[in-house]
Amino acid sequence: MSSPARRYDAIVVGSGPNGLAAAITLARAGRSVCVYEAQPEPGGGARSANLTLPGFTHDLFSAVHPLALESAFFQSLPLEGYGLEWIHSPVEVAHPLEGGGAALLRRSVDETAAGLGRDGPAYRRRIGALLADWTYFKSEFLRPVRLPRHPLRLARFGLPALLPARLFGRLVFREEPARALFAGIAAHSSLPLDAPGTTAFGLMLLLAGHNVGWPLPRGGAGAISQALLLYFQSLGGELVTATPVENLAQLPSARAVLFDVGPGQLARIAGVELGPSFTARLRRFPRAAGVFKLDWALRGPIPWTNPHVAQAATVHLGGTAGEMAASERTVAQGKTSERPFVLLVQPSLFDATRAPAGNHTAWAYCHVPNGSTVDMTARIEAQVERFAPGFRDLILARHVLSPAGLEQRNANLVGGDISGGSVFLPHLFLRPTARLYRTSHAKLFICSSSTPPGSGVHGLCGYYAANEALATVLK
Ligand SMILES: Cc1cc2nc3c(=O)[nH]c(=O)nc-3n(C[C@H](O)[C@H](O)[C@H](O)COP(=O)(O)OP(=O)(O)OC[C@H]3O[C@@H](n4cnc5c(N)ncnc54)[C@H](O)[C@@H]3O)c2cc1C
Repeated sequence: MSSPARRYDAIVVGSGPNGLAAAITLARAGRSVCVYEAQPEPGGGARSANLTLPGFTHDLFSAVHPLALESAFFQSLPLEGYGLEWIHSPVEVAHPLEGGGAALLRRSVDETAAGLGRDGPAYRRRIGALLADWTYFKSEFLRPVRLPRHPLRLARFGLPALLPARLFGRLVFREEPARALFAGIAAHSSLPLDAPGTTAFGLMLLLAGHNVGWPLPRGGAGAISQALLLYFQSLGGELVTATPVENLAQLPSARAVLFDVGPGQLARIAGVELGPSFTARLRRFPRAAGVFKLDWALRGPIPWTNPHVAQAATVHLGGTAGEMAASERTVAQGKTSERPFVLLVQPSLFDATRAPAGNHTAWAYCHVPNGSTVDMTARIEAQVERFAPGFRDLILARHVLSPAGLEQRNANLVGGDISGGSVFLPHLFLRPTARLYRTSHAKLFICSSSTPPGSGVHGLCGYYAANEALATVLK
């Protein structure tokens, strides 16, 4: 435990994946580090909890983790030695369609293409070519913006990536299964699918699906945070929980403070030190849409009309690409969708630790306007029932997290925003200000998903922010 009288090289405020990544990066460089966390439990957006009935373990926030496996930083850590084990479902993503069909994203490009009818050859050609260069593309995209090393090579990915996902789907594919599959994956962006740049999200997550899969941690997302924390502590790092940081005076003395918080919160905590002009810039950084989330304890597996859907940990429920585009556009217009696009994860089918034998868990959310107070429970459950008649009869218990409930459990989720603020271009690259991880005060840094490369459990924001600190005040 820390003592307020003690002096550290660095304090990290917030123990989400980026806070812990920053803390580990600093501790590995031999710096003394203490992490301060507001909640009683560490882990931020990667936590598991018993939300419904005894014996059922649910993911409070993140559930599937393609970006954790794509993260060069996470891959450099010995997390398996600290209990982290990845589980892969036979199918990465399933997208059921009206009439009993389903588009399936599999690890193999050929096998995915084989299930996409007339679009199979186009899928094999276009996605196969991008996958061949994915290691290079990802090295340019999963990092702060800079001049590319091979501009022409990057353009093969970057130019289509700038297109709206709806347009990319229409240009490349002729039929619904492939168009719906791509639209559902791009819709993870929380952006309307006619927004420029949404193809980047679709391609990135699709290619990650082929490259590393969309895996689940055995025991729940909390296993990721637990492994990060144990490794951090093995390096001599310290953690203080249940301590919301409200101002800098509250913290022990340190040469650097890294904030795993959103820009609005940073402005509130350190406004005096940062000055009015920079604080105003932080406050101007726009929020993203919110989410409304449900967790269920179920008496059996979800009875999907198409049995292949039970082979995927992640299921996208939204029907056609056009239907999903309309739903996401409605949210962007500040209204709630009657038939929302729903992201669903069914972990207990592949991880027996999540529920008592014979029982199951499921996790789902849909996008809503930031701060929405509309109860989406019936609309989310209607979308599941549409592709799995009889689902409602299996519900033993449900847990609801509204945008306000999410924010209460993690102050970074302002109004239910799970993206750390807007991911519209150019906010995706210049977040939250053009200084990226640096602020107007030399010893204060921001390291949350409100910095590049943005949302997801990958730790890269924290890693890059910590490197800024090591290159400057912690040299
Ligand atoms: C419902 C939901 C579903 C998601 N699904 C996925 C998914 O499947 N896959 C994926 O990769 N990502 C997913 N994400 C996104 C992912 O969780 C985040 O991108 C990631 O956690 C961001 O990490 P972070 O460290 O920047 O912030 P966070 O994980 O949000 O952590 C911030 C931490 O800072 C603490 N904190 C805030 N303010 C203070 C303060 N004043 N004092 C002290 N501590 C403070 C918070 O309590 C929190 O612990 C999801 C997020 C949500 C909410």
